[in-house]
Amino acid sequence: MLAISRSLCQKNFQRRTTHFVTCSVRDRHHIWSYKRFLVQDKVDCGKIQYLKLQKCDFRTTQNLHVPPLVAMLLRPILRIGAVLMGRGMKRWWTRKSEKEKEEYKQWFRERRNIFLGCFGLYGLILAIYYVTHLETDPLTQRSRFIIFNQEQEKKLGKMVLEAHLEAHKLDLVPHSHPAYKRLIRVIERIFTSNKDLKSMRDTQWTLTVINTPLTNSYILPGGNIFVSLDILRIIENDDQLGIVLAHEMAHSLLLHSLEALSDRLLWDFLIAIPILLVWAIFPDLAAAIIHMIGERIVNIIYNLPFSRVLENEADEVGLKLAAKACIDIREAVVFWATMRTLTEMHTLPPELPWISTHPAHGDREKRLNEAMTKALELRKDSGCSTLPAADPRDKFYKRSAKEQEIYFKQRGII
Ligand SMILES: [Zn+2]
Repeated sequence: MLAISRSLCQKNFQRRTTHFVTCSVRDRHHIWSYKRFLVQDKVDCGKIQYLKLQKCDFRTTQNLHVPPLVAMLLRPILRIGAVLMGRGMKRWWTRKSEKEKEEYKQWFRERRNIFLGCFGLYGLILAIYYVTHLETDPLTQRSRFIIFNQEQEKKLGKMVLEAHLEAHKLDLVPHSHPAYKRLIRVIERIFTSNKDLKSMRDTQWTLTVINTPLTNSYILPGGNIFVSLDILRIIENDDQLGIVLAHEMAHSLLLHSLEALSDRLLWDFLIAIPILLVWAIFPDLAAAIIHMIGERIVNIIYNLPFSRVLENEADEVGLKLAAKACIDIREAVVFWATMRTLTEMHTLPPELPWISTHPAHGDREKRLNEAMTKALELRKDSGCSTLPAADPRDKFYKRSAKEQEIYFKQRGII
């Protein structure tokens, strides 16, 4: 039905100068019925593109959820506020005479327990907030910290999508480009085979193709998929395309963007106190250096590994989504082996796994290969036809380095 809704939008697309249209499908029960779709679905093409596939019924929750916009504004406010407050305290302190300083120190020593209690209470409130906002992901059974609900994700997704489309307005590929047809066909295949998942049905998937030199595909909150034309050059067939798209869709089903934003906000609250103390105690230059080094260390030992965990999880769940869609999932290994080989050949930028948000291509290739036996069983259990005996992985690995180079040249990748 994605293809059908696309054709409806194209009529409006021609009327407008913009490349993008909005299609709202209001009746969730009829989205797979062509006839009723035409009759009942409201098509509103006044804004930027998205293909709203169905109406969502969001669950409500008793938890105290933070509006995403507030969260996004709170992050810089917390950091800048901690720096300014720390500097303010330092300046206030330097203006005091030695006698006054001694009196304040004495005053502080007498109330030390009260201050320690306040810090303890602050930590306790954060800990309680953290524990009460843990939930178990239905797909992975992993416990995760999320402070937004799905309705908020929808609003955040719309906001981010509009900003993103504006930022990429010169890169947008016209809706008539054949890449859309191909991508929509594969997305529809994954969607249809996995619509037993409520989160799959509840997500309003959209697709945008961009023409940038970046070999990339990604997903914004709320199921807004972006694919660059450049990555389509490297993707060898629809099975590999299915793997890439299923990975992006898995990110959305697993609420990774909400989890990452929740996690960062909690970190900001946690490190606001150390930042304040650093700027209060050390001279400005030293404080700036300590602050910067501290941020880098937290990034390397926590943020980036966390991001890589989410990527691996999306690979794992994406492989399952693709398996259920009867895709030749062995191509997942071939795709990442291709990416690794192109990186080794310096066609793609070099990888720095320790300071990267994504795992190394070779690691993804290895992990997906290890998950293959179970995923192939799932594929078989999903009623898919038997895969061709010739394993695409063998075909890839049998090529010598020289043959690989010739092959890539023939495909126009290098
Ligand atoms: Zn990803």
